[in-house]
Amino acid sequence: LANTNVLKISGLKVAYGGIKAVKGIDLEVNQGELVALIGANGAGKTTTLKAITGTLPECKVEGVITYQGESMKGAKSFHLVERKLAMVPEGRGVFTRMTIEENLMMGAFTRNDKAGIEADVAKWFDVFPRLKERAQQLAGTLSGGEQQMLAMARALMSHPKLLLLDEPSMGLSPIMVDKIFEVIRNVSAEGITVLLVEQNAKLALQAAHRGYVMDSGTITMTGQASAMLDDPRVKAAYLGE
Ligand code: ATP
Repeated sequence: LANTNVLKISGLKVAYGGIKAVKGIDLEVNQGELVALIGANGAGKTTTLKAITGTLPECKVEGVITYQGESMKGAKSFHLVERKLAMVPEGRGVFTRMTIEENLMMGAFTRNDKAGIEADVAKWFDVFPRLKERAQQLAGTLSGGEQQMLAMARALMSHPKLLLLDEPSMGLSPIMVDKIFEVIRNVSAEGITVLLVEQNAKLALQAAHRGYVMDSGTITMTGQASAMLDDPRVKAAYLGE
């Protein structure tokens, strides 16, 4: 993999009042990489993603985040799609009062290749037949797992350069977890750069090229994902072995 970073985080600190959620972390995601950020509840993983996407008040955030060589300072969520950065938040964030099909179309709002957009909708309906069966149903009526699929498909409709995923396996049945991870692997194989936040460390490291372990706001370990899967400390603390 080419060693050019798409995302680079240096000395990131985030404090919520007196609580130091992120305590000065460095992390980078290179072109074409799938990087897993794992760690226990409250480690600061979601906060890190929120800092990247500019969804935290600036006064709470210190450090430098660059995306494709440019600072993310002052980035607003509605600019992210134009910059080819897509995020699937924890708890999904679909447009509940729009249909499934409308949600997918919203994902493509920066594109104007009508035929390509239609082909992509058809592709995602192929990947997730449940969404196809419910194409005209309001997204708010979908089950949690179905909303997760929709959120992922909608994010990919924007043809992102970098995809940020927060706990994509959360609340899914084992079969759907397999399905979502298959989609993540395929997306990565197609060349999209991915930063994957997951509590399911085993699945995440099996899919990833590299990983980072976060604990109480600091990065405690990083390396090749395959080596981390074999690391006794990772096994004991995160893989339940
Ligand atoms: P989880 O896997 O449980 O989602 P996480 O690693 O994503 O955990 P964060 O959600 O980033 O962890 O939370 C890190 C710390 O910051 C936690 O101690 C949490 O209680 C705290 N925190 C997060 N959001 C806020 C907030 N808005 N106000 C105050 N404290 C917060």
